[in-house]
Amino acid sequence: DGSNEPTLNSKPKTTFRDVAGLEEIKEELFEVVDFMKSPEKYQKMGAKIPKGILFYGPPGTGKTLLASAVAGETNSSFFNVTGSEFVEKYVGVGAKRVRTLFEKARKEAPSIIFIDEIDAIGAKRHLESNNEKDQTLNQLLVEMDGFNKDSNIIIIGATNRLDLLDDALLRPGRFDRHIHISSPNVKTRYEILKVHTNNKPLDKTVDLDLLAKKTHGFNGAHLANIANEAAIYAVRDASEVITSEHFDRALERVIAGVESKSSALI
Ligand code: ATP
Repeated sequence: DGSNEPTLNSKPKTTFRDVAGLEEIKEELFEVVDFMKSPEKYQKMGAKIPKGILFYGPPGTGKTLLASAVAGETNSSFFNVTGSEFVEKYVGVGAKRVRTLFEKARKEAPSIIFIDEIDAIGAKRHLESNNEKDQTLNQLLVEMDGFNKDSNIIIIGATNRLDLLDDALLRPGRFDRHIHISSPNVKTRYEILKVHTNNKPLDKTVDLDLLAKKTHGFNGAHLANIANEAAIYAVRDASEVITSEHFDRALERVIAGVESKSSALI
């Protein structure tokens, strides 16, 4: 059926400037952006434009953000979906959703299709390839193989676990570029904090350098959250600026959230 289609798309304004740190990754992606902007240049050299890029690494490290920046930089339509949205009880439904997604992306090309948690559909297949998940994965492979060289669609998959994926997905011509995105180090954490406090009035007491040092083990999503919580505390105090004390409270709050989440896992 056509209901519940996981094909929300937009034209994001995100650019690489919104992504802190990750310089080497941005450089590699810049090449992809260049491919999409001037494909002739590469075709003349007989170079193939990549179809699929796989981001792998821990959650909250900017995978979705980077994919949306590629769309923003190339002025592409951005289709942001999650692997689990395709997994259905009834055989054929997931495959049909994949087909519909690619139809739309072709219609609105240039397009970036971002599939988060791609392992939900791309996990290693079983010998008997006839269950719903396998059909969905097969359809994805068919769509990827079906692109011609100038269809101007790039698919970015994201997973926390590269080792779970079916080899067929990783073959040349499919997701053949693998980019590891790791948890931010202290320098990157500082840069992420910079990006997320850029538009905020900070008091002189705020020491982002120190905050970066105190947030070992935090990812970009946590840091964005700290900056936002600090701003909310400042509003609550009717303060003109965000002070280090607001950041301390925000940090405590986010730490409490992280701890309650990890204890829930035990
Ligand atoms: P998941 O695997 O959970 O989907 P993800 O790797 O896709 O996570 P994002 O959704 O891109 O992570 O990141 C969440 C938020 O964290 C972003 O919207 C952004 O606010 C912030 N963030 C993460 N990394 C960075 C970064 N390098 N620079 C700036 N902001 C970042």
